[in-house]
Amino acid sequence: MADLEIDLLTIFPGLFDAFLDESFVGMARERGLARIAAHDLREWTDDRHRTVDDAPYGGGPGMLMKPEPLIAGIEALAGPKGPEREARVVLLSPQGRCLDQGWLEEAARHQRWVIVCGRYEGVDQRAIDLAIDEEISLGDYVLCGGEIPAMVLVEGMVRLLPGLLGNAESVAKESFTQEILEGPQYTRPPIFRDLEVPEILRSGHHAEIARWRRERALEWTRLRRPDLLERKLERTDPPPERNGPAEPSEDSE
Ligand code: SAM
Repeated sequence: MADLEIDLLTIFPGLFDAFLDESFVGMARERGLARIAAHDLREWTDDRHRTVDDAPYGGGPGMLMKPEPLIAGIEALAGPKGPEREARVVLLSPQGRCLDQGWLEEAARHQRWVIVCGRYEGVDQRAIDLAIDEEISLGDYVLCGGEIPAMVLVEGMVRLLPGLLGNAESVAKESFTQEILEGPQYTRPPIFRDLEVPEILRSGHHAEIARWRRERALEWTRLRRPDLLERKLERTDPPPERNGPAEPSEDSE
């Protein structure tokens, strides 16, 4: 059994062909670390036209994904929703929780997944209520379908697989893992179009280099994503009681 097992449910399985074969995802599959397969939702239709969508009640633009094929597909891949179900079933949706590294790290502890890619104007709510465990968004914008968000999710999960990346340290040190951004990085040549690699990085003084990197990382985070530092501070600030007796509040007796 692979460390990570993902079934993707989509009306465009062909979109995943190259994605599943190339780069780290392809490597993880080849090495048997991950089993990932894309399934055509239309396999779970039972009419001549293999219909997966229908018009929304109450009117409005576009079509919605019908509940019957979705429920049939999810239940065939994961079983019915409930405490016995091993797989976590995720729907990609702009209305879901926004994806971040924290979610991926928590997800890395779970082995079985079914990832559902929405299309059209979205999904009949009953299918969500009856079969989906969580909804995940890629951000506050709307794409045409859940396939590209699903690829983002899969790649984020695969690269956390133990034993996949040559240097596990690179995962531990990169942006967001330590709740700050990674600072600037350089490779050869030492001078390129008059721009020089900082001397310290070529000095061989590992402790100095580590300190320089930490300072640059903090500086970049302060400039580019001050919200990350504020959140980090909020979490690490000791609660006021620990600093001494609490100030009496206006309404204390
Ligand atoms: N009418 C929907 C709404 O306003 O929330 C948008 C539907 S969108 C055109 C079709 C599908 O694309 C969604 O069901 C979802 O699977 C996917 N999708 C679009 N934007 C997304 C996002 N930001 N994150 C995750 N999935 C998204």
